[in-house]
Amino acid sequence: MIMGPPGAGKGTQAERLVKELDITHISTGDMFRAAIKEGTEMGKKAKEYMDKGQLVPDEVVVGMVKDRLSQPDCEKGFLLDGFPRTAAQADALSKTLDDMGIKLDGVINIGVPRERLMARLTGRRVCKACGASYHVIFNSPKQEGVCDSCGGELYQRSDDNEETVSNRLDVYEAQTQPLIDYYSERGVLLEINGDQDINLVLKDVLAALKK
Ligand code: ADP
Ligand code: AMP
Repeated sequence: MIMGPPGAGKGTQAERLVKELDITHISTGDMFRAAIKEGTEMGKKAKEYMDKGQLVPDEVVVGMVKDRLSQPDCEKGFLLDGFPRTAAQADALSKTLDDMGIKLDGVINIGVPRERLMARLTGRRVCKACGASYHVIFNSPKQEGVCDSCGGELYQRSDDNEETVSNRLDVYEAQTQPLIDYYSERGVLLEINGDQDINLVLKDVLAALKK
């Protein structure tokens, strides 16, 4: 699992880690954005919360993740990104993994001070085709507006505006940050400094996972 506040670099690291470790990337945010694009009922419901920077209700997220974990591509191992985000989600995940006979290997917590996150999120650009994350200054693509890895078109997420980001950071502090203690108490937490170069963060994560 990979945790951290919005903008910590979870997606950026996840993209690299799943390649390196040959496992499946499960991002609940990406799944909701795909559902919105497809125009499904769940997508329409999720959008109302996402636009305000609020969390989608637990039962919706938990049901979606349970279905996803039963897909064959999860058998080789998976990385959860953006889930769980509440104590209820963490409890539901723990029960689901127990039922499936799966052990959680580790929880990577990417720490970044709040004052850095606004600039990271408002400058973020995402590939429409493959979901890769870029930044106009900190991680710019070779050609403006074009994804380095697949050539797809880059766009700015509608929730990456100042007002929504500010709500998302408050929601993170109130509802998700407490999970750091939850996983620390269970002895699975790997604390990583996310306030350094992207390649150095990746190096630290891989070293922590090896230990
Ligand atoms: P998250 O998935 O945690 O919300 P992202 O991986 O999408 O965050 O990263 C948020 C933004 O910050 C993106 O624009 C990304 O390019 C940029 N970013 C990610 N890691 C770093 C880093 N170590 N230093 C500077 N910018 C970063
Ligand atoms: P992300 O792509 O992780 O930044 O998530 C974008 C938005 O999707 C969040 O602001 C929430 O509205 C919603 N979302 C993603 N994952 C979850 C989750 N585990 N629980 C509730 N809402 C979620």
